[in-house]
Amino acid sequence: MGVRVGVLSLQGDVSEHISAFRRTLVSMGDDTGCVVAVRHAKEIPLLDALAIPGGESTTISRLIDKNSMRNAIERFDGGIFATCAGMVLLAREVDDTRVRPLGLMDMEVARNAFGRQRESFEAIIPVKGLEDPYHAIFIRAPVATATGAAAEPLASIDAGIVAIREGRHMAFSFHPELTPDIRLHRMFLKNLGI
Ligand code: GLN
Repeated sequence: MGVRVGVLSLQGDVSEHISAFRRTLVSMGDDTGCVVAVRHAKEIPLLDALAIPGGESTTISRLIDKNSMRNAIERFDGGIFATCAGMVLLAREVDDTRVRPLGLMDMEVARNAFGRQRESFEAIIPVKGLEDPYHAIFIRAPVATATGAAAEPLASIDAGIVAIREGRHMAFSFHPELTPDIRLHRMFLKNLGI
């Protein structure tokens, strides 16, 4: 198969994303594929998929521009797998002017939607397309508060939408890269026809 997955490596939980995608490719029997750390715009068009990790969306947003990567990400024709801060960055609109979102998903996102009391929590939630519920880890998580017609919510909790697909891109409020459960990674690659 030889699929090429990149992880945007400017800030955030990059190594966890790399190892989760490596485990996923192994589980799918792809021993020719690779998962690489991406730091330069010129690497992006060579990828089939790009992960945008959890971290600080304000920082990642600033570093995307500092490293002149915005254009390459916006034009990327592969799939984007975005978690937490990554979800904030994919949005059309964010409730924090320090983030300059990429606008690749038709959704409005509230950063740190759970406030201080519930900074981190875990929940077992049903996700559209998965037979059994998913054990989701939320860390200072965002939620999508509104979505356009092309965006398909995959999971919601009381506070809002926490998993969403739009065409070849998927975004999660929580952190699939921090659990051994790779079903969402597989779903993402399958959605790309991989
Ligand atoms: N709330 C953070 C932000 O908006 C994201 C937290 C995370 O990625 N774990 O940047």
